[in-house]
Amino acid sequence: MSHIVEISTDSLDGKEVSVRGWVYRIRSSGKLTFIVLRDSTGIIQMLSSTRSLSEEQHKELSALTIESSLEATGILHKDQRATTGYEIEIKNFKVYQRNDNFPVSKDLGEEFMLDNRHLWLRSREFTAMMKVRSTVFNAFADFYNRNGYYQVQPPIMVSTATEGGSTLFKVPFFGEEVSLSQSSQFYLETFIFSLEKVYTISPSFRAEKSRTFRHLTEYWHAEAEVAWIHNDEMMEIEERMIEYIVGQVVKHHEEELKILGRDIELLRKIKAPFPRIRYSKLMEMAKKEWGLDLKYGDDLGADEERAITVHFDKPVFVTHFPTELKTFYHLPDPENPSEILCHDLLAPEGYGEIIGGGERIWDLAQLEKRMEEYNLPKDDYYWYLDLRKYGSVPHSGFGLGLDRLCMWIMKLSNIKEAIPYPRTVRRTRP
Ligand code: ATP
Ligand code: MG
Repeated sequence: MSHIVEISTDSLDGKEVSVRGWVYRIRSSGKLTFIVLRDSTGIIQMLSSTRSLSEEQHKELSALTIESSLEATGILHKDQRATTGYEIEIKNFKVYQRNDNFPVSKDLGEEFMLDNRHLWLRSREFTAMMKVRSTVFNAFADFYNRNGYYQVQPPIMVSTATEGGSTLFKVPFFGEEVSLSQSSQFYLETFIFSLEKVYTISPSFRAEKSRTFRHLTEYWHAEAEVAWIHNDEMMEIEERMIEYIVGQVVKHHEEELKILGRDIELLRKIKAPFPRIRYSKLMEMAKKEWGLDLKYGDDLGADEERAITVHFDKPVFVTHFPTELKTFYHLPDPENPSEILCHDLLAPEGYGEIIGGGERIWDLAQLEKRMEEYNLPKDDYYWYLDLRKYGSVPHSGFGLGLDRLCMWIMKLSNIKEAIPYPRTVRRTRP
């Protein structure tokens, strides 16, 4: 066998090459057999015939099934009739494994496809999705590394709730009980007193019983926390970060976006700044402009945000939520304490919230008062309160659901299509 090349390697026209991979399609007309081979870089058509192979060899290749694994050598030449533009006429080959029937093909029902996710992962669509997802994760880290942030690793097993008890997962722990982290925010806050600008990419766990198109019980949470930064500045950093990530996807994944049927032109328009709308104003617009049954004080869930964001083609920040809609650590607006200095970033085209962030209360007395209103035991939060006792500073942060970001960027219909192994109320397999 000659040197193995990647299937999508250019400028090998007329040369002898070896490729290896998996049978993607196979069709035989007796004398000629066309095998489309797939590797991690793409697909290529190969031809088996008795012109360059023995009768027996041609028979062996013709009997291959989808997803059989092999290595093949032959001359590569341009061929406009080939689906892939090139064709390799096979001269020599080695079959690693010939399959029985590969169980997964399209449209076999959602549950079947989820049961067989470990095999469905190989599909072209899923491969395209995973490549884009890889870029999204890398671009997030890349953006913050370039901007002087430190990557930190908070714990996953914790004993302090951040987002409230109702969605906590409890796990046995040497005769006691701990919870799985819902957010790393409080730990990130501890790091800003030495590192000032920190981020993490870490799984978060939420016992979400509601089954919406955007909720998982285990998801990938990208969070940052920054000393000395106010709500407005935080939003500026976030919109640049989103622009950067989308830009990287557009730059590197034209092919994948095409496979996924995503309109790349819409993504090219994702440029900062993003519109900023106060919650109070948004409620007015929702009623007057879009005829939605929403009023001041209503919380925004998946359905409401879908109805709102279909009217946008760029992400939009919603700011100044009523204080009672958000949890205790958010900083009330000093000019109007009934609203807080926070923001949600809603993805357009019906997707809704991808980021929740804002300014944190940094005054000890104010934080203690808010915790009393929420009946939170101060002892459990002693370390969080300590941060307000020793060198406290104004600071802000955010949490971004990376699976939700992927879902929107690739215009997938459900968050389960944006993660390889989704965990939901009914599914922890495979
Ligand atoms: P939602 O209102 O949609 O339940 P949330 O307000 O509870 O979300 P935050 O606590 O603000 O979410 O978490 C920060 C980010 O984490 C969200 O903006 C979202 O992108 C993501 N996220 C939250 N819960 C989930 C989940 N169950 N599955 C996937 N991503 C999630
Ligand atoms: Mg939120």
